[in-house]
Amino acid sequence: MRVRSIAASWVGGMLLLVTTLAMAQQWQDATARKAGQGDGPFQRLILQQATVVGGSASAPVDVVIENNRIVGVTRVQPKPSDRVIDARGLYVVPGLIDSHVRIIDAGYEALPPDYALKLLLAHGVTTIASMQNFDKVDWALRMQQQSAANTIVAPRIQVWSDVSGESPEEIRASIRSAHQRGVFGIGEGGVYKDDVEGMRAALDEARKLKMRSHWHMYGGTAAQFNALDAARAGLGGMAHWYCLPEALLEGRASPQYPESKGPRDTRLRFAQAGRLWKQVAPPHSALWNQVMNEFLARDFTFEPTFSVYEAHRDYMGVSRADWHEAYLHPVLEKTFIPGKTGRFSHLYDWTSTDEVEWRNNYRLWMTFINEYKNRGGRVVAGSDPGFMWVNFGFGLIRNLEMLQEAGFTIQQALDAATIKSAEHLGMQSQIGSIEVGKLADLAILERDPREDLKAFYATGTLQLQPDGTTRRTGGVKYTIKDGVIYDAKALLADVANMVRDAREAQRGVQ
Ligand SMILES: [Zn+2]
Repeated sequence: MRVRSIAASWVGGMLLLVTTLAMAQQWQDATARKAGQGDGPFQRLILQQATVVGGSASAPVDVVIENNRIVGVTRVQPKPSDRVIDARGLYVVPGLIDSHVRIIDAGYEALPPDYALKLLLAHGVTTIASMQNFDKVDWALRMQQQSAANTIVAPRIQVWSDVSGESPEEIRASIRSAHQRGVFGIGEGGVYKDDVEGMRAALDEARKLKMRSHWHMYGGTAAQFNALDAARAGLGGMAHWYCLPEALLEGRASPQYPESKGPRDTRLRFAQAGRLWKQVAPPHSALWNQVMNEFLARDFTFEPTFSVYEAHRDYMGVSRADWHEAYLHPVLEKTFIPGKTGRFSHLYDWTSTDEVEWRNNYRLWMTFINEYKNRGGRVVAGSDPGFMWVNFGFGLIRNLEMLQEAGFTIQQALDAATIKSAEHLGMQSQIGSIEVGKLADLAILERDPREDLKAFYATGTLQLQPDGTTRRTGGVKYTIKDGVIYDAKALLADVANMVRDAREAQRGVQ
């Protein structure tokens, strides 16, 4: 019996290995940088007379790049061997960083492998923190290496992993193993099986290994171990909002909700979540200040992922956003449509009252995040695409718009997706601003994002023309990653073709 089960598991393991290798090959082929995809790096590349956004220069300057480094933000005389881009009238922004992506996930394995990566690059995203499930870490690490070598069309990738194991010892071992393999931090999943002891062990092990931790906490343990408890135990930052309001409750550990009918399903959970922030200590009250100041003292990072919950406050608007028509892949769309089958497709029976509650909820949550930034706290932008109508690239830009709604200036919103995120990823000496010595990761736009963050959207926005007609303008023109120039519009055309082909195939099947 035992021998048979070992043999069976060996065969199973080999099958898994063969499938994984075949899929890895498929990913390699689809994402590989082919002729005409990305140009460079160059011995010397000059972005001539560019308007640099966020820098100290007020007049247009030349951004000089050698190989993959910025070597000058100045004026130079080009040599015949230089590659020169005439950047007059163009706006250059540090490449954006999305601190919350999963390049491979169970929900969207059927997406073409290059779909997400191209959408991200096309929105000027040059670095992503990939929050991987433990079993997908090696895969993500391989892509990280390939991206670093510029052999695939992809942003720079930094791999964070969740942990695995049932006991504190197993959890510690999984973190040691992740660390050994080159994982940067313990992210997203963390330990979520309502296991406070496991969470404490994970944070302790991460501390010993000097690994960063940035978690998606789970509500099940919020009464015993809220976000502030986790910060005290060593958690460096958090995505979303779970377990944060619980740190702000006055006189009790758990929020209260009206009597609910039926089982506690995802729909009900999110309807209740919209009624969460109104129960916590009001903005600028003693407890609210005290909790905020302790997070500040601990140099804690908040990554609110505002846009991933937006459908809760405006389902029709979010589910009919402009960009779905050309860029929403049917594989994703299928998981978004409300119903009992999808993972987070709980927006059925969603009422006007639910939306109003969520709008009010956002106001209080945004007030906290905005004030945290005002007091010098680190707030970073992450989009968590692939859920609740949030798509790759678009979701990060929508996050910037929502940070602006929270009270950030446009420059502060851009900082959240550049220098602040770079600090969060421990890469501030390499990326996050346009400075001599940093890597050449840049986004180049035709419209000034300081006037309108929507300038980043691939779909642009309608602009009135001199002849009285309106036309869509905007979007990133070039994304430069590691000194390699990508034509953002060409990447978008590839994505639009993938989406069109998939829809046609779907119609053919029906
Ligand atoms: Zn999450």
